[in-house]
Amino acid sequence: MPGQTREVVVGLDNGGTAINATVLDRAGRFLVDRLVETPSRVGEGPAVAIGALSEALAGVLRLTGVPRAAVKTVGLDTPGPASADGVISTRGAVNFADPAWRGFDVRGALETRLGLPVIYSNDANAAALYAHHVHFGPEAARRSSVALIVGTGLGGGVVESGRVVRGAAGMAGEFGHIQIPMEGLLAPGQPTPVCNCGLAADGESVASLTGIEKNLLPYWLTRFPGHPLHALGSARRAAIQVRGHAAAGDQLSLEIFRQQAIALGRLFTIAANFTDPDAYFLGGGVVETTPSFRDWFLATVSENTDLRAEQRPLATFALVPDLDMAGARGAALAGAAALGWLPAAG
Ligand SMILES: [Zn+2]
Repeated sequence: MPGQTREVVVGLDNGGTAINATVLDRAGRFLVDRLVETPSRVGEGPAVAIGALSEALAGVLRLTGVPRAAVKTVGLDTPGPASADGVISTRGAVNFADPAWRGFDVRGALETRLGLPVIYSNDANAAALYAHHVHFGPEAARRSSVALIVGTGLGGGVVESGRVVRGAAGMAGEFGHIQIPMEGLLAPGQPTPVCNCGLAADGESVASLTGIEKNLLPYWLTRFPGHPLHALGSARRAAIQVRGHAAAGDQLSLEIFRQQAIALGRLFTIAANFTDPDAYFLGGGVVETTPSFRDWFLATVSENTDLRAEQRPLATFALVPDLDMAGARGAALAGAAALGWLPAAG
């Protein structure tokens, strides 16, 4: 069809192993309703990985029958840490281990390769933006939200009036590295958790896979001497299995997730006093589990979020939807926002 419906934004979610691609048209419709994944090849360094992103774009256009001339901009997201403009941290990043990635301008390199404008988001901000727009729909521009994404680390995003709050250096919404009170969270005698960033008792030191592996699981195993997770021999493998055990009702694993839920609630309490959002979203691997465990976890996070009497009836707690596609879709929405395609606040 001619005219504005042929104008699209391509969203590319560049992960540690895979690229997920999507296409968003000017009417706000996603033209693919499933995962469109190709290998990201980030382990082979930036030159190979930029080529893989270019191929992913071509592939999703072929799949949807959209001509390249219809692409007005590209939304790109990657895991952090990276600057607001998509320059990977000079200190390196977990998902970008090759030394050539340090200080690499992934946004600029893709823009040069494609000859198209590229709008960069970090992956947690992209997921936050997608959750916000799915939840609020036409109301998105008049609402605010915060999102916490629990994975290997703890990512976060703040959305105000339908737009991601990026901050001066692109580091707004880094809830993972806000310190929280440990009183009433830790068991008597439990060591204070420490984060990879060097801080003690911050959000990520508790509410992340890394936090389970380094802080929570080593303590709780001492309290459950006969537990089957002792036999695994690898702390990382054991940490990964905690979620499955928790969903099956295992006591040790539920203690770990109860501590994570308290930490997440305390971070949401900070948000409640800071931007007082309409919605609190929770995403990441932690919610990819059985419905009953997910519901318990979200309810426990909500119970540990200290809202005022005026706030509680207005606040919504919800999960980030379509988790596998949230990054690509959120990156595409950020591209659409840059083009002025999203409705503005009235
Ligand atoms: Zn930290």
